[in-house]
Parts: sequence; structure tokens; C-alpha cells
Amino acid sequence: MSVKDLDQTYVAGTYKRFPIEIESGKGSLVRDEHGKEYIDMGSGIAVTSFGIADDQWIAAVESQLHRLQHMSNLYYTAPCAALAEMLCKRTGMSKVFFSNSGAEANECAIKVARKWAAENKGPHCSTVVTLKNSFHGRTLTTLSATGQEHYHELFQPLTPGFAHIPADDPSLSDLKKINQNGQVAAVLIECVQGEGGVIPLSPAFTCALRDYVKQNNILLMVDEVQTGNGRSGRLYAYMHYGLTPDVVSTAKGLAGGLPLGATLLSERVKDVLGFGDHGSTFGGNPVACAGAISVFSRLTDDFLTEVARKSDLIRTKLEGAPGVRSVSGLGLMLGISTDRPAAEVVAACMAKGVLCLTAKDKVRLLPALNIPEDLLLQAVDVIRQCCAEG
Ligand code: PLP
Repeated sequence: MSVKDLDQTYVAGTYKRFPIEIESGKGSLVRDEHGKEYIDMGSGIAVTSFGIADDQWIAAVESQLHRLQHMSNLYYTAPCAALAEMLCKRTGMSKVFFSNSGAEANECAIKVARKWAAENKGPHCSTVVTLKNSFHGRTLTTLSATGQEHYHELFQPLTPGFAHIPADDPSLSDLKKINQNGQVAAVLIECVQGEGGVIPLSPAFTCALRDYVKQNNILLMVDEVQTGNGRSGRLYAYMHYGLTPDVVSTAKGLAGGLPLGATLLSERVKDVLGFGDHGSTFGGNPVACAGAISVFSRLTDDFLTEVARKSDLIRTKLEGAPGVRSVSGLGLMLGISTDRPAAEVVAACMAKGVLCLTAKDKVRLLPALNIPEDLLLQAVDVIRQCCAEG
């Protein structure tokens, strides 16, 4: 049986896969089962921050594999402690809880909000507010947090205690109504809604939100699962908006291709979770943390400036091009609104050797942060052609 047949027979059919098998790769190039090469403009949906099989990352991960591949969280391990220090020092946050995915990083954030609010504001205060059109994960609770009804329909009843407000209303009238009796514990936002169509929040909205949560003793939590770890051209996207979050969740690109989630806790909430309140067998795994240290230590200011420059390069080439209506996003997380249906553009790009993604009705680009400029320009040329055709 071919890989495709085996997969279709034995793997749960939750993914609408593209019709190719990816066998291997190096950097921003990947190869399919027939040896055809593609420029990878998706990096596993913002995961392989330094591309496929990056030498420095492999060396860090391999060296850790030879030493200790796993140890229970009942013991101290060096990579976990070192990574937590790095994350705190670069963000000004105070402590980190490690898990394995974005959904779990958000689950932890929600647990922190619920416990903090119950202890500090009273048991009536348990509502977590998120934005309409947001995406926060696939566990039942993060699905409840996700502000898109079509994800909810088949999985009732959901976890109670969530409400969704418009992302583009700086008057915050819905939030004010929901918080009439002071029951809002936290607001959770993505600074750029990724799955929702690569839509950045407006500074008018984030400023109003920042002031309101401060005045009303509500936690501000930022989901940086997709936008984080250099993707936006800053270390975290909230840094573009001058926000000071109480909680930041991240995953995806953090460990460059190994499963790792992190929930960063500010001074205000760093000790909310105590012994036994939360845990994860694999969270903070030494190999995943070694990969993350390799990624994170290379996200220097100079490197992030390069990410922003490459973003500008893509925008300059695509904005105003035939068939391109607009380009949205931050850094190397860009959405292209096209005349042709996005799926058609993506299929045409694939045929010409460039792998792109979609987000809602847009073509979505999430290349490796270190994609070489020549490959980037080649890919953008193909995307331009494919947007203009049809
Ligand atoms: N939050 C955001 C903003 C995401 O984009 C995603 C995944 O796309 C998640 C959470 C869920 O992450 P994971 O699939 O690692 O659970």
C-alpha cells in the first residue's frame, strides 16, 4: 500500500491533506515522494522556525538526546530551567509553566485566570472573554474559548464561562455589558488572528482594552501560539502594541519542530498555581527544551530586524500586483487577499514548486524565519504569477 493509502485507511480523517507526501527537506526546501522540490512557505504552520533539519538545532537536540531524553517533572532538569530563565529575561515575565502544545498552553492560562480571579475577586468572577473570529485550540475548553461558532456546533455542551466580543470595537460595549457585575476574570486575545484570516488587531482596540482591563482589575492574556517567538518581527507580537500582558501562551515555533508549549506568568500571577494544581508528564521535556534554547538564543534583535525586512520585501512585491487585493499581517505571518479563490492559488503554487497555506479566504505565508532571500524572492515570484492567472 502507498503511504497515501495507508494513511487514508488507518489515520483518523481529521485533516484534509494536500495530495503530496513530504519525505525530507533541508532549510526552506522540501522534497516529495517523487523527488520534486518545493520552497516551503508554511514551515509546518509556523513551527520549523529555522527550517527543516537545521544543523545548529540538530546538534543541540542530538547532544541532549545522548544525555537525557526524558525525566519526570518530579526532578530538576537543566534545559527546562535554562529555557524558563531565557523566556523570563527576554520578556520581563516571572515564571513559566511548560506543556506540549498551544492548546495546553492556553488551558494553563485559563486555569490561572480562574484560580486568580476566585481568590482575588470572588467565586462569581470566572468569565474568560475572547474575541470573535479567534482561535485558541481544539481541546474542549480551548474550543469554548475559540470565538468561531462553527467549531462549537458538534461538540456541545462546551466548557461554560466564556464570552466573545467583537475584535474591532474600541468602545468595548460588549465587554462592559458582560462585566456589569464584575464577573470577568480575564481577556484572552491574539494580536494577529491567525486561523481567523491573518488579521492584526487595531491599536485603537488594544489601547482601549489595555486601559479597561487595568481599571477593572481584569487579567490581560495574550495567545502568542502562532505570532510568538520572532514570527511577527518582534520576539512577541504584543510588543508591537505596547501591551504588558499578565499571561502569555506560546508553542508552535518555540522548539523549532518539537512539541513544546509555554505559559509565561507575570509577577502578579506567578504563584497562582501551586503544588498539584497543574502538571504535564512531557511538559518541559529536556530534548524539546534543548531545541527551544537553540531557537530562542538566535532570536537576537539583529535577526528580528531581518525578519521584518523580509516581511517588507514580500509586501513590496505583492501589494498592488495583479490579482492581489491586499496583504495583511505582521513579520513573516502574512495573509494575501486574492481575486482568485485562495485554494486555487495555493494549488497553482504547489504545481510550480511552492508550498503555501490558506487562512479563511486568504493565502497564508509562514516561511521559516531564516528563509534565504533568493528562495523567498523565487517563491514570491511564483505566488505573484499564480495570483495573476485564472
Ligand atoms: N492558539 C493559536 C493562536 C493557534 O494558532 C493555534 C494553532 O493553530 C493554537 C492556539 C492551538 O495550538 P496547538 O495546535 O499546538 O494545540
